[in-house]
Amino acid sequence: MTSMIIKEVCAKTIISKSKVHDYTINPYIGCEHGCTYCYARFIKRFTGHKEEWGRFVDVKINAARLLQREVEWKKRGRVWISGVCDPYQPIERKYRLTRRCLEILSEHNWPITVQTKSPLVARDLKLLKRFTNSEVGLTITTGDENIRKLFEPNVSSINDRIETLDKLHSSGLTTFVMIAPLLARANGLVAQLVGKVDYVLIDKMNYHHADWVYREHALEYAMTRRFFNQKKVELSEALEKEKMSYQFLF
Ligand code: SF4
Repeated sequence: MTSMIIKEVCAKTIISKSKVHDYTINPYIGCEHGCTYCYARFIKRFTGHKEEWGRFVDVKINAARLLQREVEWKKRGRVWISGVCDPYQPIERKYRLTRRCLEILSEHNWPITVQTKSPLVARDLKLLKRFTNSEVGLTITTGDENIRKLFEPNVSSINDRIETLDKLHSSGLTTFVMIAPLLARANGLVAQLVGKVDYVLIDKMNYHHADWVYREHALEYAMTRRFFNQKKVELSEALEKEKMSYQFLF
């Protein structure tokens, strides 16, 4: 197995403008989860990495120091953690950069939206509860563990992610699930999410990095416009039946 290449780097800034929320913070460049469809691999072009996606992480060791300075002079706004690479990927256990950034943001009472695929986020539950305005989302793309393994082999199981949402939600945090990219066999998810999320966001597959996975496993039907339109109808019905708030992004 190829090993991970971890490099400590010093960033110039840490709070960036975002099109989704006001700002985004990315303590890590690269992602150990290495999802087959990941759109974030575009950053290889900007960082000069030649390694396979999922095999490198640059750790911004000065992230907290930069943030401490930047929150003093930037206009307060909602921070998305993270817009590009998973803030709770395994390396966060060691470096705790996401945690340190959250501590600073909570001291300054900035609103945050955390988004991850990792149960490690529950480590910071008490800290997340200190915010007056925070929400935490887990991304879950299918209801079938076999499909999950094909597209996201290095990520936690569907059950672990649902249990994490449950834990966060029952502690009083606002939670959401991001079903994106919507993969095959996601229908069963809705029933499992009832009472564990405040809202649901759904998007289709917008990239072609994982086309080979669909082809290799005879799943091409799940890449078509017809599939997404049909799922839109079925998921809407299931979500409305459960009286859950939702939004389709396609
Ligand atoms: S967890 Fe997110 S950022 Fe990381 S590889 Fe998967 S899709 Fe990309």
